[in-house]
Amino acid sequence: MTYNITVLDGDGIGPEICKGAVAVLEAVGKKFGHTFNFTHRLIGGCAIDETGVPLPEETLESCLKSDSVLLGAVGGPKWDGLSGDLRPEAGLLGIRKAMGLFTNIRPARLWKSLKDASPLKSALVEGGVEIIIVRELTGGIYFGKRESGTDENGQLYASDTEKYTVEEIERVTKVACELASKRRKKIVSVDKANVLESSRLWRKTVHEYAAKNYPDIEVEDMFVDNCAMQIVKNPAQFDVVLTSNIFGDILSDEAAEITGSIGMLASSSLGYGTRGLYEPIHGSAPDIAGKDVANPIATILACAMMLRDSFSLLDECKSIEDAVQKVLDDGYRTKDIMSEGMKETGCTEMYMLIAGNI
Ligand code: NAD
Repeated sequence: MTYNITVLDGDGIGPEICKGAVAVLEAVGKKFGHTFNFTHRLIGGCAIDETGVPLPEETLESCLKSDSVLLGAVGGPKWDGLSGDLRPEAGLLGIRKAMGLFTNIRPARLWKSLKDASPLKSALVEGGVEIIIVRELTGGIYFGKRESGTDENGQLYASDTEKYTVEEIERVTKVACELASKRRKKIVSVDKANVLESSRLWRKTVHEYAAKNYPDIEVEDMFVDNCAMQIVKNPAQFDVVLTSNIFGDILSDEAAEITGSIGMLASSSLGYGTRGLYEPIHGSAPDIAGKDVANPIATILACAMMLRDSFSLLDECKSIEDAVQKVLDDGYRTKDIMSEGMKETGCTEMYMLIAGNI
């Protein structure tokens, strides 16, 4: 099969880590007989320098024509003084909107060989942890009606509104069910249905939709406060966690933290079709850009997610995860995950080792 991928290298360490991801995908293509065509386009600060805007038309067109999109990272001090829609981050918001991406998927995986990096006691993470947070991305309180003013008692007030429609809940539930059907066939749906009307609709809709369309998927409900506690108390109980925009925002950072390293975590954003935007969760790390010390693994794992979630290439996805596991088990570490007795590698050496293990 042939797959067309737009690569948005971006700024800072973006080009270095994307180079590594492309090398690994090429190794996967060679092993499994696929062709990956890569089209590199500008986004963020480098696009501002070259074209005056963070998301040039040519970039947008290429993304919308591709089978999927890989993004490095955008931003850096050079562009910090720019305002609003001219900032590098505006390119990111623009591309997510144009691609109609309403779901964010963030797996927080603690690799067994990196368990010392977790702030949790080793007994809690002994068997490894992988929590996949499926977060609704374009609805809820971040996009609801907001107002401020002075009330009838002369008090200044402000309010934000959490609003969800059945359609918004169903479409993100579908993404979570699809993902769960390729995994443990279990979803924990997180809400605050004991207090919020919007959560009661969330809970009812998730259950009805899953039961009707994915009868083999088990849905368990959990209140968000309990979930926040359970993530640090017994993280291994979770697999796919489905939740709203604001709860997902908070829980995904909490889950990421227990893995101990920002350079290892990937994320994807998906919409109605199979095309997605795949990226590491970290930023452009200007402090280490160009030094060949960045950890390319988050971006490489974003490619594994692309193979699984956009192209349904499960064995190919696993080949990347296994290669990462092997290289970690062999004791290779980039600086950010380095510990005593391990072998320190640069960015290039790390991705060459992973590509070599595909
Ligand atoms: P950052 O994630 O870029 O860096 C935080 C720290 O983590 C730094 O010390 C950095 O060296 C380290 N780090 C990050 N990725 C690493 C990797 N792969 N390997 C090794 N170390 C790594 O966050 P920041 O410093 O707050 O932001 C820097 C720039 O990135 C800012 O302009 C910010 O706006 C932007 N940013 C972009 C995105 C994105 O493109 N999605 C996300 C977050 C921040």
